[in-house]
Amino acid sequence: MHSTPPKSLFFRRALRKRCPQCGDGPLFRSFARLRETCSVCGLQYRRESGSQTGAMYFCAAVTEIFAAGLALALYFFTDWSAPLALGFGTALVLGFSYFFLPVSMAFWTAVEYSTDVSNGERWTRPRP
Ligand SMILES: [Zn+2]
Repeated sequence: MHSTPPKSLFFRRALRKRCPQCGDGPLFRSFARLRETCSVCGLQYRRESGSQTGAMYFCAAVTEIFAAGLALALYFFTDWSAPLALGFGTALVLGFSYFFLPVSMAFWTAVEYSTDVSNGERWTRPRP
């Protein structure tokens, strides 16, 4: 009997920027440019227009939580002036968002793949 690998495997592979299905093919063409398909197993990463909208929302939500935590930290743990804290905080939040975007895209690709496996979609062939 065929057993499905644990879903955590799909997320670990994707967060290593590898295909969630086979674990070998690269997810990205460059820094934050997702490939269309896996070069090893052929899994289609972007099956429809707007499929990465969830990644955008996830990145925005995590960045907002980061920004809120940073704002509180700057308020309570520094005696910086508002312009200094705002300038520093804005730069840090923008940098965080920039570097978190590919992580968010990889995470979202694993979310989509994981739900497709759960739904028994015909194009999923999870490999241990
Ligand atoms: Zn693959």
